[in-house]
Formats: sequence, structure tokens, C-alpha cells
Amino acid sequence: MRTSWGSATDRGLVREVNEDALLAYPPVFLVADGMGGHDAGDLASRIAVEEFAQLAGQDAATADDVHACFTRTAGRIRGEFTGGRQGGTTVAGVAVTEHDGGAYWLVFNVGDSRVYRWSEGALEQVSVDHSVVQELLDLGEIDEAGAAQHPERHVLTRALGTGDAPEPDYWLLPAGLDDRLLICTDGLTREVQDDDIAVALAAHEDAQDAAAALVGLALDRGARDNVSVVVVDVATSAGAHDDVHITVPRAGAELGAHQWDEMLNGATVPRPSRPRGPVFPVTTPTPARGIDRLRRDEQAPPPDEPRDESTPPEETRP
Ligand code: MG
Repeated sequence: MRTSWGSATDRGLVREVNEDALLAYPPVFLVADGMGGHDAGDLASRIAVEEFAQLAGQDAATADDVHACFTRTAGRIRGEFTGGRQGGTTVAGVAVTEHDGGAYWLVFNVGDSRVYRWSEGALEQVSVDHSVVQELLDLGEIDEAGAAQHPERHVLTRALGTGDAPEPDYWLLPAGLDDRLLICTDGLTREVQDDDIAVALAAHEDAQDAAAALVGLALDRGARDNVSVVVVDVATSAGAHDDVHITVPRAGAELGAHQWDEMLNGATVPRPSRPRGPVFPVTTPTPARGIDRLRRDEQAPPPDEPRDESTPPEETRP
């Protein structure tokens, strides 16, 4: 399997700090959206990236590997935020995994960052938000337009750091040829509608160009929140054969916009008979518990403060 990817993050035009963090290193790609303000949200999201980065360089990750990262992240956040200090983070992403001898993406999510699949021109949201408005949508009590305006649209029903044990949802996606995965924080999806996201993904063949374009779209539209995007291209038709190889990183592989194209244990992994397949939910989202709710808009925007253009991007890498 040949994989290329790109990533971009920006503080946005309103927030003082970038509390988002991201990880883009095979076999794991994710975004984390920290909550709680400066010295809290950014710490929580960084902890998540540090824990998941322990998978970097592995050939593939199992569901147990990924779940252990969630558990360690939650434990470290609980240890950091004591004495009434509040903080937490979302985590959404994908990991290369194997299932029944085939190559799959294991999609994981806690919170309202999202994983989408863009395939054959269609954009499909794979993850399901853990939010109050998602529950109201599921109940049919509001529609998409109502969700965007709902007074509790910032309220999460799950996050890391707010409850006893992490409750991620998981899905398995067949690693289809020519599929593109989009992982993003809500700073993108609150500013840019799905239709416009799909247009941007179609317009940029290069994953890094696509990620930068999406962050640029959010900035054009006001970027009221931090915005982070990872784009992962699962394979290219130019490299498509009946035998698709899962690969391991080359020695000295660099992070960023580049490709990952190696062999896993020399084994040939059969390509699924259909490049595209159904999304298999591994776990079913459970009803929220009120005690786990964490408000997202705790970081108040500064009044009329000009944006500091000198702030470096806070992309987090292992
Ligand atoms: Mg956010």
C-alpha cells in the first residue's frame, strides 16, 4: 500500500493560542483539539500526540495498540489536571491495521474532531461526533441548519480527560485504492461546509496542497477557532496492482508532505476485491452521560487583538 500525506494547522484569526495538535507519521495520523485555555488545552492535545507518537514507525497498529494510547493519554491528563484545573482534548484519526489478512484503516474518535473518506468524488463522514447537537440530530429534534446555530453546539459528550476511562469509537475501513482520508478539527468544519471541502479535495492532487488549501479556506471565512487538517492518500492508481504491499517506513523518513512506500515483512497483502467497501462500525456509539460534558468555548477571544503573524505553526511531530 502506498501512502502519502500532508498536514497543516493554524491558530486562526481569533484565538490567542493554538490548542490543536496533530500527528502525521505512519502508521498513525490524527488531530487533537485541546480544551481548557492556555496551558491546559495545548498541554492536553500535546499529551495525546506524544502518546500516539509511540506507534510511529511501526509497520501497523492493532486496535489494542490504539486503545492503549487512549488509556495512557487519559491517565496522563488526569495526572496533570489536578486541584480543580480543567483540561481535555478530542482525538480523531486513523491507523494502518490488518484484518483478516487485508489492509485496513482503523478509524478512531473521541469528541468532535472528524475523519472523512473522500472517494470517487464523494465525501463521507466516517466518525460520529460526541456532541450534544449530534445527539439532537440523531433524535431528529434538529436539522443541520439548527445544529450550526444551537446554543450548545460547543458542548461535547465525550472527551479525553473528563471521565474515568476513555470511550473511543472505532471503525474499520478497507484501504481502497485512490481513497483519500481527511482528518480535521472542528475549526475546519465550523467554517467550511462539506461541499466546499469536497471541491478543495478534488482541486488538489497533492495531499500537502490539499491540507494547506483547506486551512486557507477556514482562514478566508474568519477562522474563529484553531484549525488543523491531515490529508492521507491511501494509494495511487499509478501504483495499483492486484498485489498491494503494506509497507514500513524507510530509514530516515522525513515528516510532512511525502510518501510512504515500503514492504511489511515482505508479505503480499491481497487487495480487497472491490477497492471501496462498506464502513464497518467496530463499536456503536453509546448515549452520552451528562457528567462527561465539557464545554468547548472556554477560551474567550481577545478584544480586537491583531493576529500575531510571527507565531509559528504548532504542528506537532514525534
Ligand atoms: Mg476546535
